[in-house]
Amino acid sequence: MHYSVVIAGGGPAGLSCAKVLAENGIDVLLLERKPQIGPKVCAGGITWSGLINKIPGHLEEKRFPVQHIYTRRQHATITEQEPIIATVNRVKLGQHMAAIAIEAGAEIQTSCQIRKISKNSLEYTDKKSGEERTITFDYLVGADGSTSLVRRFLGLPTEHIGIGINYQIPRYVNTMEWHLQSKHFANGYGWVFPHATTVSIGAYADQRAISAKQLKKGLLRWAAGHDYDLRRHKPRAEFINFDYRGYEFDNIFLAGDAAGFASGLTGEGIYPAIITGEHVGKCIAKINMDMQQMRRLIRMQKLHARLVTLTGKSKFLSEVMAESVTFGLRYKLLNFRKLEMAH
Ligand SMILES: Cc1cc2nc3c(=O)[nH]c(=O)nc-3n(C[C@H](O)[C@H](O)[C@H](O)COP(=O)(O)OP(=O)(O)OC[C@H]3O[C@@H](n4cnc5c(N)ncnc54)[C@H](O)[C@@H]3O)c2cc1C
Repeated sequence: MHYSVVIAGGGPAGLSCAKVLAENGIDVLLLERKPQIGPKVCAGGITWSGLINKIPGHLEEKRFPVQHIYTRRQHATITEQEPIIATVNRVKLGQHMAAIAIEAGAEIQTSCQIRKISKNSLEYTDKKSGEERTITFDYLVGADGSTSLVRRFLGLPTEHIGIGINYQIPRYVNTMEWHLQSKHFANGYGWVFPHATTVSIGAYADQRAISAKQLKKGLLRWAAGHDYDLRRHKPRAEFINFDYRGYEFDNIFLAGDAAGFASGLTGEGIYPAIITGEHVGKCIAKINMDMQQMRRLIRMQKLHARLVTLTGKSKFLSEVMAESVTFGLRYKLLNFRKLEMAH
């Protein structure tokens, strides 16, 4: 079989790319290793400037015009007219994006794990039938997440990577919280992101500053002091790649986490994945690309990566950063949107 474009991975980057390509009449096949499109370890937070306006309201779980930020010394409450962040269920988001891409004409196959890549062909296992298949392509898009096989095929190292740990527990909670406490989370943070009938409790940090084991310990310690006994629940953890080194490599492109487009500072990656997936689709389809939006995103990505590298150097620097950002937000010297990837 031959396709003009094969996309590895059915997360937001791959799905947005598939949609743009199909809309432009390009034959595109998306291969996803999971049996279903959508499931992903994630807190599901999307921002107003980034995505809340772009996705249909019925996909939202809850929206929050008020944010609570806690450090060792401060508690800042930020209130805006518009919701600052909303939460989404990743399965619903994935299913919605897949339906749009399929309607536009994209072909999506699940339970298909790509195993071997060369310049114009790849081999994958169809896990339903157990068959090994080979397909050829003109273009390949690596949208296969933070441990991308396509990225490895290109020989790109991944040195700057964060760890995200999530507990999704059944509880009705109504306040969104960020906890910037270095004694638990090094230069990262812990979060409470309420969903409709559950709450996401988790932590994110740069793995150069803290190991996954220590971050989990910190999260359990923090949670125990906040009336959440997480030990009864199962954690899920994944990497978040923020080591951006380009996205176009001859006939092979990278998008989303595979390219390292996520924020090293906050772990925000859904918006960058969608924007860069669309952009790669437009590059291949050779249609009007918003280079300004892309340049802005890359600038923001690099700034966040530099800041997290700096604060990762010492606990003192993490605390100074956490206290000054919170002070700035508290006294309106800094707008919350400045911390978003869409800014
Ligand atoms: C704990 C945690 C919390 C997070 N919270 C947030 C948040 O609140 N807000 C936010 O914006 N971001 C958050 N993120 C980051 C966000 O989830 C990612 O940045 C985003 O999903 C990236 O999208 P993507 O399409 O690039 O990759 P992914 O969503 O990872 O999709 C990649 C897809 O490729 C598939 N794949 C991989 N290898 C292969 C292969 N060999 N063959 C076939 N398929 C393959 C995978 O199964 C997967 O479905 C969080 C991440 C974690 C870990």
